[in-house]
Amino acid sequence: MPIYAWCPNCGTEYSIKHTRCPKCGTPRPRVGRFRIFIQLEKKTVKKLISNISLADVKKLETIIKQRIIEGIYTEKPVGIEFNTFVKQYYLPSEKNNKKPESLRREIELYRKYISPFLADKKIKRYNTKRHRKNKG
Ligand SMILES: [Zn+2]
Repeated sequence: MPIYAWCPNCGTEYSIKHTRCPKCGTPRPRVGRFRIFIQLEKKTVKKLISNISLADVKKLETIIKQRIIEGIYTEKPVGIEFNTFVKQYYLPSEKNNKKPESLRREIELYRKYISPFLADKKIKRYNTKRHRKNKG
């Protein structure tokens, strides 16, 4: 179950067995972009995570594996970026609740005022029930 590092210079993904990019020789960043690839219990999990240290990627891999084994793994919570959350979960769910022009305005405001500050921030857990309640 490997973890791959992403070379910031040439974009090659390579096994973390290497400490340098095999293609261009750039040292593996201490904090950077990594891909987790897990195949376990007939589940395949692939995750590309930015702005993370190798130690944290390894921790995350362990957590995901544990959750798969315990049968409680879901795609959503484990430390996704705010931007990913908005695009994959929030906006699609709001599509059904808002007028198209309101949604368009919200996306505009998000891009302008929120995304520059929060896009890269990780959210650990998100309670959809609470979200629904607050909206009510
Ligand atoms: Zn490279």
